[in-house]
Amino acid sequence: MTSHAPAGNARADQQLRELLEAAPDAIMQVDQAGSILLVNRAAESMFGYSRQDLLGQPIEILIPHEYREPHAGHRGKYRAHPSTRAMGSGLELSGLRRDGSRFPVEISLSPSHTDQGLRVTAIIRDMTERKRAEDKLRKLQEAYIRDLTSSNHELALRNREIEQANRLKSEFLASMSHELRTPLHTIIGFSELLGEELEGPLNERQKRFVSHIHKDSIHLLELINDILDLSKIESGRLELRPEVFDLKAVVEESLAAFQTLSQAKSIALEANVAVAQPVEADRLRFKQILINLLSNALKFTPEGGRVDVECAVRESFAVVSVRDTGIGIAKEAQQAVFDKFYQVGATTKGIREGTGLGLAITKRLVEEHGGRITLESEPGKGSRFTFTIPLNAIKKRGSSK
Ligand code: ADP
Repeated sequence: MTSHAPAGNARADQQLRELLEAAPDAIMQVDQAGSILLVNRAAESMFGYSRQDLLGQPIEILIPHEYREPHAGHRGKYRAHPSTRAMGSGLELSGLRRDGSRFPVEISLSPSHTDQGLRVTAIIRDMTERKRAEDKLRKLQEAYIRDLTSSNHELALRNREIEQANRLKSEFLASMSHELRTPLHTIIGFSELLGEELEGPLNERQKRFVSHIHKDSIHLLELINDILDLSKIESGRLELRPEVFDLKAVVEESLAAFQTLSQAKSIALEANVAVAQPVEADRLRFKQILINLLSNALKFTPEGGRVDVECAVRESFAVVSVRDTGIGIAKEAQQAVFDKFYQVGATTKGIREGTGLGLAITKRLVEEHGGRITLESEPGKGSRFTFTIPLNAIKKRGSSK
């Protein structure tokens, strides 16, 4: 190998030179005094000088005037602690072209010790394109953030307006409902009195009229009560009143309220309560949930059917289900029945009864307690509504606030 060394060296030198010339970055070498000893092609085109113009010149000619003096000082320090590293790390460095224009650069330095003293090789990368791309990206980001901030601001304003409108609506509904109920009670009361014929007998037609007045005014009262409930829930003004109670007793009370109706329709109405421990929830609201579900079950179950209530404990929840053998609910309507004013169709009596608000209220009351309500149903076979109530619903809600 030694015998081939001179030829081998020449070839290696040639390869090295080719590599140097092909490099996309400017590469230069300076001596201890900062005079340029070597430049590649990229350096020529980057700075706009020919090789001859550069060789032997101080490296400072490639640096903007105001940095020349400090640069000479830095060179002195580098000589004292030479190492391979980035130059001016964290600083924005600029190069100066022959035509006086400047451009951003990134420079890495590496020392080599020779017989003639320390030489420093600098690899200089033109950062113009990268800076331009970064600037563009930054501007885009800034514009995007500006847009986002202004649309957020607009959304917040909109939200406030909507909240305000919603609150006004709820307040209006609450006060209207109250104002409507008073005269309605008068209508209900007096139509009842008339129907009892204490003030004198009515003929058949008159009886029918009075009964219509009575029935429809009760329907109107239910509607108003439901709207009032819903507006309270929606405006966040519904307050749950926690109470520890016996689930079995509440279920039995609720069933008792439907005894007459179930007997009249020959519907078997039964409950199976497997909950031994007391439940802590709003007793009246719990009863309202159950009564809503029972009322629907009886309404939509034909004569001779069954309605069953089942209660059990699963983890920290009471799970209550109301199952009927009624007309059932088609798959596509099973979500919508919980919407406000949604009614699938006629009841078993062939007419529309109710307000279409019952399940919307029921769902919200369950959720206010921290529970969930689900529905399984098959048209023609029946429906099963299941809801869960945390055994200590109110305590949990209180502590999470
Ligand atoms: P409504 O006052 O009409 O009963 P709900 O909100 O309680 O209002 O119920 C909405 C609709 O869901 C009902 O009109 C009915 O079509 C359907 N539905 C509710 N419960 C049952 C059930 N147990 N069986 C069949 N359909 C039911």
